[in-house]
Amino acid sequence: MTSCIAERHGTAWMYRRWGCRCPDAVAARRAHRNAGRTVSTDIDPVAVQRAIRGDLNQPLTLAERAAAVAQMTAAGCTSQLIADRLGIDQRTVVRHRARLRKIGALR
Ligand SMILES: [Zn+2]
Repeated sequence: MTSCIAERHGTAWMYRRWGCRCPDAVAARRAHRNAGRTVSTDIDPVAVQRAIRGDLNQPLTLAERAAAVAQMTAAGCTSQLIADRLGIDQRTVVRHRARLRKIGALR
């Protein structure tokens, strides 16, 4: 072990979310960066699924929130339901949807 004081270790996600600086995490983070900076690289699908089910114990990043809005919208959820489920304002949902449509992530 290193002197890493993060709560969770070993992946690019832990690097970003928890500040892990273990060699594995640093390498994973570098691989992610080299793969290109896209929105999806910063999304933890498990956290997104949890949020969609109404478990908000793990706060979502902006990208994850957008992913959750996209998935719930695709599933036919209303903006009010999405707002309630994700614990955000309905206007935020509308904003996310507008942006997602703009980048072609949502029809
Ligand atoms: Zn670590």
